[in-house]
Order: sequence, then structure tokens, then C-alpha cells
Amino acid sequence: MNGSGTRDAVLGFDLGGTRIKIGLVDREGTVHRFRTVPTDGAKGKEHLLSTLREACHTAGREASAQGFRLLGTGIGTAGFVDGSGRVAYATENLPGWTGTELRRELESATDLPAVALNDVHAMALGELWLGTAASLGLRSFVCVALGTGIGGCIIEDGRIFGGRDGHAGGFGHQIVMREGGIPCGCGMSGCWESYASVNALKRLIDERAPQGFFEAPACGVEDGADVVADGGTPIGEDRGADSTAHMGADRGADDDIRTVAHACVHGDDTRIDVPTGILRGMQASKTADPRVLFDAARAGGRLALEIVDEYAARVAAGLVNLIHTLNAGDFIIGGAIAAQGDFLLARIAERVDRQIMPVYRGSGIRLHAASLGDHAGVAGAAFSLLRQL
Ligand SMILES: [Zn+2]
Repeated sequence: MNGSGTRDAVLGFDLGGTRIKIGLVDREGTVHRFRTVPTDGAKGKEHLLSTLREACHTAGREASAQGFRLLGTGIGTAGFVDGSGRVAYATENLPGWTGTELRRELESATDLPAVALNDVHAMALGELWLGTAASLGLRSFVCVALGTGIGGCIIEDGRIFGGRDGHAGGFGHQIVMREGGIPCGCGMSGCWESYASVNALKRLIDERAPQGFFEAPACGVEDGADVVADGGTPIGEDRGADSTAHMGADRGADDDIRTVAHACVHGDDTRIDVPTGILRGMQASKTADPRVLFDAARAGGRLALEIVDEYAARVAAGLVNLIHTLNAGDFIIGGAIAAQGDFLLARIAERVDRQIMPVYRGSGIRLHAASLGDHAGVAGAAFSLLRQL
């Protein structure tokens, strides 16, 4: 709050391959007027810049209408961003984006100060300021975002560790398979993200469970094999839109509505417990959907659990490399997969613990789910500017 009674706010952007998230962030970290617009990266750099300029002008009007004084803009973007706020490299998801003087473009659009940084660096700052790290009092941690690819950020004593050029955190491209590895979007093959990103998980589901996990009325077992829902299995963590990812959250009241249904478990002919609503969702999906995988695994499906365990082992392999490189103890795991909470993280942690050298155990290796969801990047980009002012 300044002397005139208006409140200060920063316009935060989180520019991903599919969506641009936009919000007005005040000094306390409350995100106002949050919205998303399509990135439409294929339309090229000029289209993208005009989308950002338009959002700046709209936000400027909205800010003053709501009694905010706009202090500037912060943007986290997919790709690598150097210390001057220039996009040093972006993949073909954002054609022409490489070389964009992003900070300067925003400054000239608003006549206000701006910062530009990598999107996962922004997410890590958001978690530091308002999210999991803030609630745990963590000042040093490693952030890993499991999404289309894998992004990362090292936070050391409340600051981003950028390395020589600001690009530290490209964990997704550590080579985990030198020969015969899966090709990666970076042009190499055998990168961690080719094995442990959410896209890699979808490929794994396609390979191991091409028919999905549940089919009705029967798939190789006797017709009428009962799936009995008797309330015995905890299923269905809260996966709200805010991706709060409470570890080990209680199941919702809706899951208490149970009945007997007919189906079979692909690759598993045992009787399992499944709430009807979830079963319906499984039947509807014929594509590789990680949410269906996790629902089936929570319900006790043997094949689904095998795939989850394989995925956990793949994630763990990269984390073990990071622990041995950085001697890190706390990891914040973000991306949509963070919503799976402890069901997944405990499996990863168990494998990490088995594989690290004992000397690195120290006071323990802890994996935490990120908690800000869609707001993390927007808040973190705004925070990056706010703490410079
Ligand atoms: Zn790569």
C-alpha cells in the first residue's frame, strides 16, 4: 500500500507451449484477475508479442479500475532466458522465439520495468515466495517440473543458482541412456525427459497397456467377473484445479457412493475394489491418460501399479544423479503430475533411497509436491520483479 491509498501490483505472465497464464499480483502475493489465453505459438513471434502487448494494455486498464498502481511486468517463458531477459533458445514449439529481447519488449509496451526468466525458474520462485517452500521454511531446494518435458531450477539460500549464463536447471537433458536412447526434442537421444516426462509416461502407457486398464463387459476373463466396490480401498485424491496436491489427501465424499459393477482389469483377473464413477472414467478412456493410469493403480490394478512403479524408477534415476551432483536434500516436484501427491512421490523416494550413496542421505531426502498449481509461474515472475524494486 502506498500513501495515496492505491495498492501496488505487478502483471505476471507464465508463457507455456499451449497457454499463457496472466494475473495481477499484489505485494502480498494475491493473484487478481487470473486468466489464460492460447499461446498459438505456431503463428510466430510477432503474433505472440502482440498478444502480450494487448494483455499489458488490458491489464493496465483493469489495474487502475480496481485501484491498483501497476509497478511493472514479470514473465516466465518456456525456453532459456539469459541474464538480460533475452530468449537465448526456445524449441520449435515457439517458432522464432529464440533471440527475442523479451524484457525490452515488455518495457517498451508498458513504459515500466520488466523481468523475463525461464518458466520453471519462475515457478520455483513462486513456490519459494508463497508455496511449498514458503510453508516449510525452505530456502534451498531443487525444483523439478514434470510436464511435456522436464524443467528444473536450483534455489540456493533464496536465490536462483543460474550458473555461468543463467541456464542451470536443464535437468531434463541429462543423458540417462547413451546408446539406443529415445530421441529427445533437443536433438539428442537418451535424455532423462524422454523417459520421465509426462509425455514419456504416456508413451509407456501406450506400450504396456495399449488396451487401457479397464474394459467392459469383459476382456479375456470370464464374462461377469465381479469388480466389487465395498469401500475397502482408498481411491481418488483431491485433484482440484489449484493442484494443491495435499500429500495423502482424504478421498472425497463422492467416492463413498459405491456399487457392484461388471468389468475386468486388463492383465489382472483378480477382484478389485472400484467406485463406480472412477470405473466409468476408465471405460471412457482409450487413450494414454496418466490420470486413468493413477486411478487404476490406486484401485489396485496390477498392470497399472507396474507401470507407475516403472515410471517412479525412471524419475528416481534422474533425481539420484542430481543428489550426487548437488548434494540436495529437498526437492519440490511440480507439473500436473504433482497432483498425484504421496501416492507417486513415496514410490519415487523409496527408489531414490535405495540408489543413493549412504553419505548423501544426511538428514534425509525429501520430495514435496508443489502447491501453487497454475499460479506458481505468474506469482514467481511477479516476485522476481517485486524484489528488484
Ligand atoms: Zn534432450
